[in-house]
Amino acid sequence: MADFLFEPYAPVTVPIARGGLFAVRRIYCVGRNYVEHIREMGNDERDPPFFFAKPADAVVVGGASIPYPPQTADLHHEIELVVAIGKDGSDIAVGDALDHVYGYAAGLDMTRRDLQASAKKAGRPWEMAKAFDYSAPIGTIEPASAIGHPDKGGIMLSVNGAVRQQGDLAEQIWSVSEAIAHLSGFVTLRAGDLIMTGTPSGVGAVVRGDVLEGAIEGVGTVRTIIA
Ligand code: MN
Repeated sequence: MADFLFEPYAPVTVPIARGGLFAVRRIYCVGRNYVEHIREMGNDERDPPFFFAKPADAVVVGGASIPYPPQTADLHHEIELVVAIGKDGSDIAVGDALDHVYGYAAGLDMTRRDLQASAKKAGRPWEMAKAFDYSAPIGTIEPASAIGHPDKGGIMLSVNGAVRQQGDLAEQIWSVSEAIAHLSGFVTLRAGDLIMTGTPSGVGAVVRGDVLEGAIEGVGTVRTIIA
C-alpha cells in the first residue's frame, strides 16, 4: 500500500440501469447546443458551440437532494442528455464517434446564473458558475447496447409538477457524434468521461424545496430536490 498522506477518495460512480457502476473520470459540457436556448440567453446562434467542465465529484445520483449553493441568488436548472464514454480516443472522426459511447443518461447542469452573467461580462472563467459542489445530478445510465443512440425524442424538465423545459433531441445543433469529434480534438476522451450535451430553452430559477424531475424519451429520468 502506497504511503498516502490521507485515504484517497473513492471513485465517483453512476449506476448502470442493468446493473453495475460507471466510474466517472471527467465531466465535459457543451455550451449553447439548442437554438431556442441560445435565443433566450441573447447569444448569437451562429456561434460554434464550446466546452466547459465540471469536477467528477459534482455528480449526485439516486435522486438525492442537493443543497442550495452559496454565493448565488439565481440557481438555474438545465436538463441535458448525458453521454457516457466507454472507449478512449482522440481526434475521433464523426463517423466513428458512436463507437466510443457506452450509454446515455438524463442529467442536470445546475448553474449559478448570476455568477455566470458577471463572469461573461468580465471575460472571466465560468467555473464558479458551473463547477460547484452538487452541480451535476444524474440519473441511471442506459447502455447504448440496450437503447441505441437517441438522436430524437422529447427532453423535458418539470419543477413541482409544472413543465419548465420541453424540447427535442433532434433540435441539437451539434449531434452527439459531432460533439465527440470536436471535443476529442482538444482533449483525449477516456472511458469514464461524461459529456453533458446542452439544454433546450426554458431554463429558470429554483428555490429551496423545489422538486426537479427531468425525463428524456427512450433514455431515462433524473430527479432532485433543492434542500
Ligand atoms: Mn448546460
